[in-house]
Amino acid sequence: MPFVISGITWILSYRCNLNCAHCFFDVQGDLHILDHVLAREALTSLEQSDPLAWQHVSGGEPLLFEAELHRLLEVIQEHGSKTVGLATNGFWGDSEQRAQQTVSQLRRRGVNGLCLSADNYHQSTLPIDYVRTAAEQVAAQGLKKHSFVVCCQPEGEPPSCAVQDFALPLAPVFVRKIGRGAAVGVPDGASQTGNIPDAPCRNLCCCLGETTPFEPQMVWIDPYGNVMICYGLIIGNLYESSLGEILRNYSVNHSPLLKILAEEGPIGLYRLAVNKGWQPKQGFADECALCWQSRYFLRKGWIENLGPDECYPEEGVE
Ligand code: SF4
Repeated sequence: MPFVISGITWILSYRCNLNCAHCFFDVQGDLHILDHVLAREALTSLEQSDPLAWQHVSGGEPLLFEAELHRLLEVIQEHGSKTVGLATNGFWGDSEQRAQQTVSQLRRRGVNGLCLSADNYHQSTLPIDYVRTAAEQVAAQGLKKHSFVVCCQPEGEPPSCAVQDFALPLAPVFVRKIGRGAAVGVPDGASQTGNIPDAPCRNLCCCLGETTPFEPQMVWIDPYGNVMICYGLIIGNLYESSLGEILRNYSVNHSPLLKILAEEGPIGLYRLAVNKGWQPKQGFADECALCWQSRYFLRKGWIENLGPDECYPEEGVE
C-alpha cells in the first residue's frame, strides 16, 4: 500500500531575487526550473482515488519565472486540488498596476491563497511598501481567506514586522533551523554530549502540524525531480521512478540513514557523523539544527538521500 499524501509543495526553482540570511536554500546557484510535463506525469501516477487536498508553489521566488509558473498552475488546475497556494516575497508589488495584474492572473489560474513574506530578513532588501501593495491587491481580489503575511523571527524575539497595517492577517513564525537558519540561535560554547538535543524528529511535514513520524502527509518536489520528505532529505527521483511508485515503495527500511533518523532521531545522525570524524565547534539550536548539520557533514557518503546542493548552503554550518 502506498502512503497517502494530502499535498505537494512544488519548488519551481531554487533561485530568488533576494538572498536572506535565514533562508533554507542557496538561491544563487545554477538556474533549473521545474518542468510542467514532469509535474503532470507525477500527478497522473498518484495511486490515490481523490485529487490532492492542496498543492502549493514555492521556491526560491516563483514569480521570477511567470511563464513556467503559469504552465505548472495549469497542470495543478487540471488535477483539481481544492486549495492552491503560492509563497512569494511580493517584489511584484512595486506598482499597484503590476500587483493588480499579477494577482488577477494567479486567480485565473486557480490560486486561492498567497503567503507573502514580511520581516527584517526580507526587508533588509525589499521595500515594505511593495509587500503592502501586494497584500492590498490579494485582499481586494477576494483571496483574503487563505492568504497571510508571514513574519519570520528568531525564537524568543518579538515579531519583526515593523508595519502592522497590512490588508491580510499576520502569521508570525520562528526561523526554522535548517539551511542558513541552522546558524540562527546557536548556543555559546562547544558541543558536549550532555547538551546535544535528543528528541526525535517528531514531524517530517512540519507545514501540516502533528502527523505520524515517517508517514509524511506531504512531499516537496524540486526542479531536479527530487521527491523530499524534509528539505534536503530525498526519497526518490521522478526522472527514475514515478511519484506513485516512489510513494508505494517508500519505507525508512530502504535507507540506513532514514532508519537511523526514524529510530534514534537526529542524535543518531550526529553520532554517525562524529564516528566518521566530524568535530562540531558549537552547540545546536534544536533537533532540526542537529539533523541538518549532521546531514551536511554526511552528504558525500549519502548523495542519493542528501541533496541537492541548494538545500545545503555552507552558511548554515558554523
Ligand atoms: S530537519 Fe531533521 S529533525 Fe527536523 S523535521 Fe527535518 S528530518 Fe526532522
